[in-house]
Amino acid sequence: MSSVPSTISQRPLVLLLLVLLGCGFLATSLASYYAALESIRDNIVNTELPLTSDNVYSEIQKDLVTPVLISSMMARDTFVRDWVMSGEQDVAQMTRYLREVQEHYGAVTSFFVSDQTHTYYQAKGVLKRVDPQEPRDSWYFRVRDMQEPYEINVDIDMANQDRLTVFINYQVFDYDKRFIGATGVGLTVDAVVKLIDDYQVRYDRSVYFVDTDGRIVLTGATGGPMGARVGQSLSEVAGLEDLQAKLPQPQSGDFEYQEHGRGHFLNVRFIPELDWYLFVDKHETGALAGIRQSLYLNLLICLVVTAIVLILVSIVLRRYQARIAALATTDQLTELLNRRGFDLLANQAIQEARRNPSPLCALLLDLDNFKDLNDSHGHLAGDEVLRGFASKLRDNLRQSDIICRWGGEEFILLLKDTSPEQARLLAEKIRQQTEHSRFSYKGASLHITTSIGLAELHQDDSLSELLARTDRALYRAKQSGRNRTCEASA
Ligand code: GH3
Ligand code: MG
Ligand code: MG
Repeated sequence: MSSVPSTISQRPLVLLLLVLLGCGFLATSLASYYAALESIRDNIVNTELPLTSDNVYSEIQKDLVTPVLISSMMARDTFVRDWVMSGEQDVAQMTRYLREVQEHYGAVTSFFVSDQTHTYYQAKGVLKRVDPQEPRDSWYFRVRDMQEPYEINVDIDMANQDRLTVFINYQVFDYDKRFIGATGVGLTVDAVVKLIDDYQVRYDRSVYFVDTDGRIVLTGATGGPMGARVGQSLSEVAGLEDLQAKLPQPQSGDFEYQEHGRGHFLNVRFIPELDWYLFVDKHETGALAGIRQSLYLNLLICLVVTAIVLILVSIVLRRYQARIAALATTDQLTELLNRRGFDLLANQAIQEARRNPSPLCALLLDLDNFKDLNDSHGHLAGDEVLRGFASKLRDNLRQSDIICRWGGEEFILLLKDTSPEQARLLAEKIRQQTEHSRFSYKGASLHITTSIGLAELHQDDSLSELLARTDRALYRAKQSGRNRTCEASA
């Protein structure tokens, strides 16, 4: 027997759910993303970068500050001053002194340059004479004229395989405060450079030193920020031009800047012993890549969960809809179609019969004297008979036939692809079967007969016209004595 298609759309509900779930998931994902972003930023600015700065600073102190003290001691040494003032007689004495200092403190070089003779002494003997015309010797004349007692100069050491060396150049004065030369030690910055490289590689951050003129003075082996080299000014480095303007006053502080659309966090620390700034820089992209990835993963999971929820909801909805549709179109007592269900299917069947074209017949059945049965055996007995009658009726029909409880004790059958002759045979079969059937209820054997009206669908018939003719045929069957089939007149 045909079933009724569900017609209620579930799209608005599914769309609403999609919007609610989508907005909810998006809001929580973004909220946790921004919270994580904020905490990572906070951690970088307040913990990571200052910690790196502290570590590099203490290493620098070990590597640079101690030599400054040694050089200061050399500049104040009475032997050095007495030896110069007595005319630089015995070179061996000076070289022995310099060798002692160098070996004892583990410096790579130690030196004294006399202002009187311009002789450059070192541990191995006399290196050369400094010449004002020689660019490589310009440091000496700079030291001679400077206000401060010493300078730290990062340079390559010609006497030491051109290694990058930090020279502490200390002014030496006689007892009357007259300038008599420059002394000091040189040391490689290998340890600092190694530490810087270690931080750069391990924590993906850039560590370098800048002097008060904004010149990069010391970087790791791989270079400074954005590939900048020692000697370059900050103003030449993309993104750092503005920062240059703030030097030499920024002292210690945190900065954020943009370089080619990439955000940077920068910790600047002034190191008074060196008169340098220590820059520790970390770019946002590397630091935030992890949480950005987890945001994408989060969103993907939300998408999958939303899709699963929507699929489940639409399956459940579809099932409920089918059940509701079945309930709305089914008669509770007999489980046959009710009028509503019949109307939906009957019109379809009529259209099909016209389109094909094929014959279609309707049978209207009404149980005879049913009121009497109710009166004598009770309403429940009547119900039982109706149920039993419906069941037998169903057994006589094909899958494609439409069967409906029209009302009370009336039933209507729509027989597809069935000629009036075939319909008459079926009607007679049902009538006789009913006549010979017995329905039992609480020990009683109940008997019933049925009258049947038959009509064939005519060209241009509407459903109600067909039913009206069937009804008239049934009326004639009742009029002519019941328990019979009457055909509608053409
Ligand atoms: P006729 O041969 O002329 O059809 O006589 P009838 O008594 O069957 O006709 P009538 O229309 O006078 O009575 C129909 C009866 O069917 C009356 C009503 O109480 C009964 N009926 C209608 N629906 C139900 C039902 O669901 N259960 C029961 N038990 N009786 C019903
Ligand atoms: Mg009736
Ligand atoms: Mg009746």
